[in-house]
Amino acid sequence: MIAAISIWEKESFYASPDVLIAGSGLMGLWSAFELKRRKPSLRITILEKNSIPLGASTRNAGFACFGSPTELIADAERNGIDQMLSVAGMRYKGIEKIRKYFTEEEIAFEACGGYECINRDYKYWQELDTRIEWLNGLLKDITKEKNIFKRKDADIPGLGLRNFDALISNKTEAALHSGKLVQALTRKVKSMGVEIINGVTITHCDGSRIEAGDSSGRLLYFTPVQSLFCTNAFTEQLFPSLQVAPARGQVIVTAPIPGLPMKGTFHFEEGFYYWRHLGNRILIGGARNLAIDAEQTLSMEGSDTIREALEVFLQNHLHPTLLRPVETHWSGIMGFTKNKLPQIEKISDTAYAVIACNGMGVALTPVVAEQVATFMGYDF
Ligand SMILES: Cc1cc2nc3c(=O)[nH]c(=O)nc-3n(C[C@H](O)[C@H](O)[C@H](O)COP(=O)(O)OP(=O)(O)OC[C@H]3O[C@@H](n4cnc5c(N)ncnc54)[C@H](O)[C@@H]3O)c2cc1C
Repeated sequence: MIAAISIWEKESFYASPDVLIAGSGLMGLWSAFELKRRKPSLRITILEKNSIPLGASTRNAGFACFGSPTELIADAERNGIDQMLSVAGMRYKGIEKIRKYFTEEEIAFEACGGYECINRDYKYWQELDTRIEWLNGLLKDITKEKNIFKRKDADIPGLGLRNFDALISNKTEAALHSGKLVQALTRKVKSMGVEIINGVTITHCDGSRIEAGDSSGRLLYFTPVQSLFCTNAFTEQLFPSLQVAPARGQVIVTAPIPGLPMKGTFHFEEGFYYWRHLGNRILIGGARNLAIDAEQTLSMEGSDTIREALEVFLQNHLHPTLLRPVETHWSGIMGFTKNKLPQIEKISDTAYAVIACNGMGVALTPVVAEQVATFMGYDF
């Protein structure tokens, strides 16, 4: 039997707020933070389908990065130099914002630096130094570093790596604990007065009227003044016209490796492979390019093909004495747009959506949240 909704529930937890946010991943949380910062009196409720956010935010690799050289070069080719610089700048600013509001201890932030590994078959191998110089010049104003990317090929063996031809370092790149970041941000927005209700799935949005269902099977209706959908890859389920492609990302984590010499975040092939130290283990993810169509899914089950490809990658590129069995693995779902740019959309007079941080949401969401707050009419 389904319990009827009491007046008390209807007038408290399930009251229609000023702003109703769907999804309590990084995008929903940073948006709530930014809206509250601009207008503290706003009544904001976040409805989250799962007991904790379950999409990408607590299932990523925890890189706080603004882009690796081959990724930035590819972005400049795809979207133009200005667009590439704009996104890199947003990512850089986003990381600074995270550091402003959270201590290193709170989110296990490690200013460990990062690297990109490159091989001779890279299409710009012959002109790699010229390309790096070009990027350094372009990024100078953003990073305040004369040479943000530096060739460090001689360091490859000392990091426990092999079978790479070049190594490019970036000392500003960092790693953090994604679960702790979401948890700390959740605490922060709650302390600002934001209500977060878990176990409520939004099923329909018709202009200003929103239908949802709670975990007891009860139907709920809300008529907020405004609503904001931060449902990322799941957005198409509610608004089929908003084209955001799901992209499953998978990671594996090795058993502890005593004496692991590797500290930092690492990229390869425009970010299609990425790995980092996690204490004395290695977390590695990616290989999605091996099965782009199959990985365009909302299923979090993961696939043996990708996990095996990641293991083979480690076998090929780690010093043999560092190889250990895989201890754990997981997957998360990202949202992608064709131009790799986040999308802010007005769906109706009162409903908005902000989606698709295209696999870069740790750094991007703090800044995209500022843009969406302005877009919704909240300036300082
Ligand atoms: C394996 C992997 C590695 C990654 N690595 C990095 C990295 O190192 N650095 C980086 O910057 N980015 C990384 N990313 C990307 C980053 O995690 C995302 O860009 C970011 O978390 C997106 O946040 P979001 O809030 O938009 O989406 P999500 O975190 O997916 O949040 C969406 C939320 O909406 C909820 N929801 C969905 N439908 C409904 C509904 N109908 N009603 C209510 N709630 C709903 C979901 O449960 C979910 O909690 C990675 C992603 C993956 C998967």
